[in-house]
Amino acid sequence: MSFSKSSQTSHISVETYTRIDLSAVELLREKNTVSHTIVTNTCEGVADCVDACPVACIHDGPGKNTKGTDWYWIDFSTCIDCGICLQVCPVEGAIVPEERPDLQTTPN
Ligand code: SF4
Ligand code: SF4
Repeated sequence: MSFSKSSQTSHISVETYTRIDLSAVELLREKNTVSHTIVTNTCEGVADCVDACPVACIHDGPGKNTKGTDWYWIDFSTCIDCGICLQVCPVEGAIVPEERPDLQTTPN
């Protein structure tokens, strides 16, 4: 299975990516040791990222953040660093393309 790229952007399209089979996801998981991060107090709980994530590693957090909104967090151990969540998130700065446990509250 190979990745195809959108003819209009250099990013892998969400539509294309969701058709990747499980073996490709496992391969990505083995190759990537880094993760994306949701900035807890910037996230507004829109949850567009949740349905877009191909490995279901984005979860809702308890209570509200300092903005008073719902918030989500990424399971660093499961994230395959694909970047789709960052592409679909409508809130500027809510997701950063690196593993930053200092920015994300991660419930135990
Ligand atoms: S990270 Fe972005 S898309 Fe995901 S819940 Fe927060 S605001 Fe919504
Ligand atoms: S980078 Fe990919 S795997 Fe990681 S949380 Fe975002 S959508 Fe999910």
